[in-house]
Amino acid sequence: NKQVIFKQFVEGFPKESDMAVKTSSISLKVEEGSNAVVVKNLYLSCDPRMRFRMKHSKDPGFVSFQPSSPLEGFGVAKVVDSGHPEFKKGDLVWGTVGWEEYSVIKNPESIFKIHHTDVPLSYYTGILGMPGLTAWAGFYEVCAPKKGEYVYISAASGAVGQLVGQFAKLMGCYVVGSAGSKEKVEILKNKLGFDDAFNYKEEHDLDAALKRCFPEGIDIYFDNVGGKMLDAVLLNMRLQGRIAVCGMISQYNLGQSEGVCNLMNIVYQRIHMVGFIVFDYFPQYSKFLEVVLSLIREGKIVYLEDIAEGLENAPAALVGLFSGRNIGKQVVVVARE
Ligand code: NDP
Repeated sequence: NKQVIFKQFVEGFPKESDMAVKTSSISLKVEEGSNAVVVKNLYLSCDPRMRFRMKHSKDPGFVSFQPSSPLEGFGVAKVVDSGHPEFKKGDLVWGTVGWEEYSVIKNPESIFKIHHTDVPLSYYTGILGMPGLTAWAGFYEVCAPKKGEYVYISAASGAVGQLVGQFAKLMGCYVVGSAGSKEKVEILKNKLGFDDAFNYKEEHDLDAALKRCFPEGIDIYFDNVGGKMLDAVLLNMRLQGRIAVCGMISQYNLGQSEGVCNLMNIVYQRIHMVGFIVFDYFPQYSKFLEVVLSLIREGKIVYLEDIAEGLENAPAALVGLFSGRNIGKQVVVVARE
């Protein structure tokens, strides 16, 4: 069983050498009397949140990756044996799996059966999985959007951002995204239907860039990056604006987070700034799935994926999230069937 092993706790930016690809043996049969499920992993999801589990924590409620054990994350898999009444051999599932060819799922509450296979299976790591639900809940529930509002999204070409932008366009909003390369900016404007986009790495003055894109200010900011960008956005929010704090990837690898100076604007502009965690919205998954599957089938929404082939390339794919190497949702293919 080929595995991506977590070698050691990480400080600063994660490196490929914090992980190693090794082979071990595994029984593909469920033990008598156990309700475990054995799966063959097909697609693995690279998620920024995996960085949190790479750090050592004294908090008993926090589950770090275990050194010398495989990493874990969301994935799509096929059941090869099952002691659980809800799963049988051949079922396709998505949920939490190990970064390895085969996983024994001891807690099958963390996997969900896939019923719709007329879309790419890898979509259950992205648009139809955790990042999709994040975009959906974060935009529709947290941002409370209205037609015609001015919407800004950072890390806009990624797994979550590209969907928030498309949802906002479907709602009739004016949508601008930022991303870290010229190629990503072109994709935002030409493939994903954003009204405008800019490369934040080429802007010396983020406040000026936002004023250029939003002369009348921003109603909704979907924050994926935090830090200096959030500070600049606070100078450009309209009255009663909303900020959905989805994540702050610019801060995850810093020993100490950067300060944000313009918080007083939250008071002046009566801004609602709300953090949210996708797991609180899992009870709404079936409603979300129905809506987003229809949008995909009707061709009203597209989804960009960046596919890395094989477990050998998984460490580089994961680390690449923090340098912006990925264009779209970063997926690792372990096997296609
Ligand atoms: P992406 O697919 O967007 O990949 C990460 C992207 O972040 C990179 O491609 C890069 O794009 C950008 N980035 C990396 N480092 C920096 C930096 N220092 N400054 C600015 N941008 C940077 O990831 P996801 O869509 O999966 O996740 C987006 C955000 O959503 C993350 O903050 C994540 O933690 C959060 N999240 C929150 C959830 C929740 O429940 N609240 C659930 C899921 C995700 P670029 O080239 O544009 O710089």
